[in-house]
Amino acid sequence: MPVQEEIHWTTTSISAPKLARLSDSLNVDVLVIGAGLTGCRTALGLVDAGVSTAVVDAKNVGWGASGRSGGQCNPIWRKTPEDIKKMFGVKQGKNLIRTTLSSADDLFHDIKNYKIDCDAVQAGWVQAAHTRKAIKDMRRLGKAWADAGADISEIEGDAVEKASGSPAYSWALKHSAGGHVHPLSLTLGYAKAAIDRGAQMFKETHVTSLQRVDGKWRAKTPNGEVTAENVVISTNAYSNDIWPGLKQTFHPLVSVSLATRPLTTDEQKTVLPGSVTISDSRLAIYYSRYDRDGRLIFGCVGSTDHADVLSLGRLRDGLRTVFPQIGNIEIERKWAGRIAVTPEMMPHMHEPSPGVLAGVGFSGRGIAMTSVMGRALSGKLLGATDDALPFPVQDISPIPMHGLTSRLIPLAAPAMTLKDKFDSLTNGA
Ligand SMILES: Cc1cc2nc3c(=O)[nH]c(=O)nc-3n(C[C@H](O)[C@H](O)[C@H](O)COP(=O)(O)OP(=O)(O)OC[C@H]3O[C@@H](n4cnc5c(N)ncnc54)[C@H](O)[C@@H]3O)c2cc1C
Repeated sequence: MPVQEEIHWTTTSISAPKLARLSDSLNVDVLVIGAGLTGCRTALGLVDAGVSTAVVDAKNVGWGASGRSGGQCNPIWRKTPEDIKKMFGVKQGKNLIRTTLSSADDLFHDIKNYKIDCDAVQAGWVQAAHTRKAIKDMRRLGKAWADAGADISEIEGDAVEKASGSPAYSWALKHSAGGHVHPLSLTLGYAKAAIDRGAQMFKETHVTSLQRVDGKWRAKTPNGEVTAENVVISTNAYSNDIWPGLKQTFHPLVSVSLATRPLTTDEQKTVLPGSVTISDSRLAIYYSRYDRDGRLIFGCVGSTDHADVLSLGRLRDGLRTVFPQIGNIEIERKWAGRIAVTPEMMPHMHEPSPGVLAGVGFSGRGIAMTSVMGRALSGKLLGATDDALPFPVQDISPIPMHGLTSRLIPLAAPAMTLKDKFDSLTNGA
């Protein structure tokens, strides 16, 4: 059977809210542009506090990365708490460390609280090292976060295979707070909860320009316009040019995924036992989890917006490397999506003009961290002072030579894969 190019999550999600296109003029307190996890979680925080809010998406709720994601809740950063304090200052750094430590539990609490049916499982995350250098770096990272209060343990030798089902690694960190969700259902669930509480939401409503008119913001869309006191831009890797320089603050890398046929009960005993998730230290990162029907979802870095033949080849290679016991299993679907990667691999909260906020750049850690950002964006609009937020409010600083480096993105996956292979050969763990 040929592998279908189709986002697996669209075949198993909860129903989507019935939305219309915006076709007239609307006046609200807050306009949220982009109905992914960030936008929907921001809107929810606002309507919970009684703020009149409209959310518009150029396509539909969850059309972007949120509906394509691996859905793995990986609740620490690639930086240590000390690095974060150096980058963001001690006060703000401490806020982010505290929020990070509770981010997974906060997400699973949200899911319960808003009764979101998104196949949520909190069974832990195995973060595996593929080289000796990665062991050294990850040992330092794990220890630093464990000292800060995270429940992280080191596992080595046979214990790694026992915990993950993968014979490919000899050392890993086990994060007990990690887990996985159905990412599209989570996004739709946040959207429905926001609509139930009074948010207005519109699909196929592409904001083409944003202008200051008579002390308010006016967003033009093809068939209507929204006037708002405040605007939140949550368009992440799918950003257009509505705010100058925003999409130049990150690189829109591609991530590709596959869904296998459901594994048999016996196969499931040998792969990700107990429904833990796994990701590794490769640049082209291999990551995997189950869906609710026992299909393995496996991902890595890709090249184009389509999960092309080369990407499928890399996925198959990865699957054979990480889980050789099912390396040739039938693949049902493949798909791709964009992730926004910032130079320091940390998200940015921007306030480029009074009344305009943006939260972008989750660098592959959006499942737990978009909720943190959504709460921070709504919190700021509800009056939280900047020093109480988990992210510093930064200026927009475009990456130098962004036009050139962005054009090289299709080469990133082959280059990263080559470097990973070289590192495994010369320094493999
Ligand atoms: C294949 C893949 C796998 C991933 N796996 C993981 C994982 O396992 N764990 C993890 O933590 N993270 C993962 N991520 C990252 C995570 O999914 C994202 O960080 C997160 O979903 C970003 O959510 P968002 O709401 O900020 O952006 P998005 O979900 O991308 O939403 C942006 C929305 O903005 C809309 N938009 C853009 N421009 C306009 C405009 N002008 N007007 C109106 N609407 C507009 C788009 O249509 C889109 O719906 C993955 C990403 C991908 C692509």
